[in-house]
Amino acid sequence: MGNVIDLHTHSTASDGIYTPTELLQQAHTIGLRVLALTDHDTTNGLDEASSMARHLNIDFIPGIEINTDVGNNEIHVLGYCLEYQRPQFQQVVQVLRDARTRRGERMVELLNEQGIPISWKRVRQIAQGAVGRPHIAKALVEAGIVQSISEAFDRYIGRNCPAYVPRYKLAPIDALHLIRSANGLPVLAHPIDLPGIDELHKWLPELVKAGLAGLEAYYGPYTEKDEQQLRAIADQYHLIPTGGTDFHGPGIHPTPLGGRFVPLEAVERLKEAAAKLKGSEPPAFVLPAPVEEK
Ligand code: AMP
Ligand code: ZN
Ligand code: FE
Ligand code: FE
Repeated sequence: MGNVIDLHTHSTASDGIYTPTELLQQAHTIGLRVLALTDHDTTNGLDEASSMARHLNIDFIPGIEINTDVGNNEIHVLGYCLEYQRPQFQQVVQVLRDARTRRGERMVELLNEQGIPISWKRVRQIAQGAVGRPHIAKALVEAGIVQSISEAFDRYIGRNCPAYVPRYKLAPIDALHLIRSANGLPVLAHPIDLPGIDELHKWLPELVKAGLAGLEAYYGPYTEKDEQQLRAIADQYHLIPTGGTDFHGPGIHPTPLGGRFVPLEAVERLKEAAAKLKGSEPPAFVLPAPVEEK
């Protein structure tokens, strides 16, 4: 039997290529039983995805991915089993999304100042939801400035590149609290890519104390050795080892939808933890002032 679970995917609500409906249709075609949609800083794809999932008899987990910055490092926090309709949660997520829009605009300005003629209008057409660098990369490819998305990142919009602008600086701990404010389960995404295994040991104690529930151990391209190492760390901190592909559609991440084995135990443990929180009044969250640029 092939893989039946994917807990890390993106749609057109952020920087994925397929709409939530198309994503679920593909999941159905390849025989997935459980899917989580985890768009960057938005839950706008979740209603459509969950109704399509119901239709296709796929177990759907509403999620999000929040990118946070720590100095020159990034930490991405996934949130699962969110009560995402909570108004206060939506308000904060909207602030993050607005910041993404302004940052995208600024990156286009920088490109223009460097003589690269792509328009914000076109980027906005490509981005149907939350704006991300992949949308700008696509506009650069379209305009013939670069040959590929990865060349766009390498030459213009990757960290330390001439048109890179940092995101709104939310600290990892704030992302955790934000997810908890919707009774969601915070999970550290792709811990070896970001933050890196050494940083991980520096950060985990504080994050676990703040309610971190899991660690993405079965991630897209990770080797068996990576996986074992992360499972051991998850055990050590009593975290749920979760997993997924980070599927965005062709050209953005290498692993195809459902292309990574994730054990059913991950889903069972997430649901068990979510059931304990369901219906309870979550801790309130107030958006802190942005972390100062170093
Ligand atoms: P943003 O959240 O706008 O900073 O964009 C980050 C997203 O861009 C990541 O989540 C990836 O999906 C994608 N990305 C980052 N680096 C690369 C790269 N070198 N090539 C292709 N996609 C990338
Ligand atoms: Zn992305
Ligand atoms: Fe990520
Ligand atoms: Fe992702």
